[in-house]
Amino acid sequence: MQLDVLTSGIWQTTTTIVSNGGSCFVVDPAYFPRELEAIAARVAEIGRADAVVFTHGHWDHVMGHTVLPDAEVCMNRGLAEAIAADDPRAAKFLDDAREFDSRWYVPRPAGHRWPTSLRGLGDDEQVELGGISVRALDLPGHSPDGLGLIVEDVLLVGDYLSPCEIPFIDDPPAYWRTLVRLIDLLGKELREVIPGHGPRLTAAEALSIARTDLAYVDRLIEVGRRRDISGARELALPRAEDVVGMRDHHRDNCLKVGIALR
Ligand SMILES: [Zn+2]
Repeated sequence: MQLDVLTSGIWQTTTTIVSNGGSCFVVDPAYFPRELEAIAARVAEIGRADAVVFTHGHWDHVMGHTVLPDAEVCMNRGLAEAIAADDPRAAKFLDDAREFDSRWYVPRPAGHRWPTSLRGLGDDEQVELGGISVRALDLPGHSPDGLGLIVEDVLLVGDYLSPCEIPFIDDPPAYWRTLVRLIDLLGKELREVIPGHGPRLTAAEALSIARTDLAYVDRLIEVGRRRDISGARELALPRAEDVVGMRDHHRDNCLKVGIALR
């Protein structure tokens, strides 16, 4: 197995090409046209892409499948069902991409659309992608449709454990449970972690991030339970305190535990 990790100019979004001989699968091909051309060129050097995988449905992770039109597209089963049912939640992800591209004049000649052939993966399902054995994990909390992949001793984790940002939380108890599960996995069988945003991590680095994030989510849930507004305001971020907008993400997280900060 060989890994190529390409990093987008937006938010250090990672695209991972997992190959074995002449075939591969591509996780979260992203984002700008010339970056997608580079991904397609690397795939052509390898041979062919049998599958594309989305770690979740957010717009910055799901636009690139159009440059690999022959690949089957795999995702969390719930996301595949939402797309097939024209669920407004799935439609919003496309609208978000459309809005970003419009604002920054990003050409998207293949359009903003979901793939036509969708394959939903369930929790702990073992599948073969590009001739490589992969274990799928349900990872809810950042979004309901989070999908992790374990390939040999490497974990592709989507939007968890990023060294660039704090947890962006959709469902606090689910996020907490996902971190506990990841900490358990990281303590056992993994060597490397590829987050959806930022550099590749050793398992020890990822474990340290996971523990720090769990402490943050713990405190967040606790201030929410106590309706402790000043505690929520003063809560230290686990990292990226000086990144523009990160405090706003913390404010969004507080809303998820019932606290509206002004
Ligand atoms: Zn996301």
